[in-house]
Amino acid sequence: MKKKFLLLFASIFFAITYSYGQTFPTSYLLYNGSPTTKVNIVILPDGYTTSQLSKFVTDAQNVVNVFFSRAPFNTLKSRFNVVIVKVPSNVSGAGSSPSYPIDNYFGSCFYTGGIQRLLAPTKTSKVASVLRSNFPSYDIVCVQVNTTTYGGSGGTYATYSMHSQAPDLAIHEIGHSYGVLADEYYAGAYYLGEKANQTKNSNPATIKWKAFLNQGGVGIYPFAENPAWFRPHQSCEMRYLGYPFCLVCQNQITQVTISQSAAYATAKNLKTNSQVNAAPMELCNFIRISPNPAVDYFNLELNAFKNDEQVTVYIYDIQGRLIMKKQVCGARTDEISTTQLKGNGNVFLVKAVGATNSYTQKLILAE
Ligand SMILES: [Zn+2]
Repeated sequence: MKKKFLLLFASIFFAITYSYGQTFPTSYLLYNGSPTTKVNIVILPDGYTTSQLSKFVTDAQNVVNVFFSRAPFNTLKSRFNVVIVKVPSNVSGAGSSPSYPIDNYFGSCFYTGGIQRLLAPTKTSKVASVLRSNFPSYDIVCVQVNTTTYGGSGGTYATYSMHSQAPDLAIHEIGHSYGVLADEYYAGAYYLGEKANQTKNSNPATIKWKAFLNQGGVGIYPFAENPAWFRPHQSCEMRYLGYPFCLVCQNQITQVTISQSAAYATAKNLKTNSQVNAAPMELCNFIRISPNPAVDYFNLELNAFKNDEQVTVYIYDIQGRLIMKKQVCGARTDEISTTQLKGNGNVFLVKAVGATNSYTQKLILAE
């Protein structure tokens, strides 16, 4: 009973706080369980007018069908939900460049950063606002753009066009944003770094993918353009669209998905054991972490606390061990270094505890 009142209170608080946000029809394309226990993919349309929203649903379903036919997502399907939010645009399609925007809802344009094929939303605050008001429990966000011109981009929001290779674009970009994987083609010195599928270590006895060496084409392949760095395969989806993920990339995506499930389980456990009124995970955007995955630091934005409220931030690893504790002031953004977290895995739970409420959010640490 007490729990019921708490949920009611939380729902009213949620409704009041975000009543300014616009809501749109939202439905599941794939439902495997409560969003608090699954990895939630949200697909947002851009450049679909009201009369084209039924086409959006069909396009999204086609992408999702291909997505879950591919390894490792085919065997992990029951751990995912897929949600669509029907956001109409005034104008169909995408802008040809940020200099020539059109009146689509999220401002998606080609020629981002001067590269023709880089298709990305320019109005990212609108993406954040739609997510917050319609489905704040998102884990993976896709922006699906209604144009058949080839293009897409990774980063916080995986973006892809409806070119015939669109499902592969989406899968490749999710490999970056969700799987924290590197490109296996040479993308330039700026993108080199230690990742699950990229390393400077060429020693077969110690290389990070040694468990997969000589299976399914996995080896130690130097980049022709920079032979000090190595990739695990010659034709992985992270190199050429339309190929399967190599075993190394499949393993990484599987590990991330299992870790996320474990993080949810730990969060629920922490919530149950908490002395304060913990919010349901649906409300976890009362605190925001960016960038997430983080590398050397992350910004922690606390929206649910009073200006002068003392807030204690606890960071737990997925086994529930306290790794870091920090005092901050409520209703502001703090930059937090990840130095203390390194060496304790890739998935953490950040719990902010104020005078009367506490909120928990996942943090992923990229290598
Ligand atoms: Zn790979």
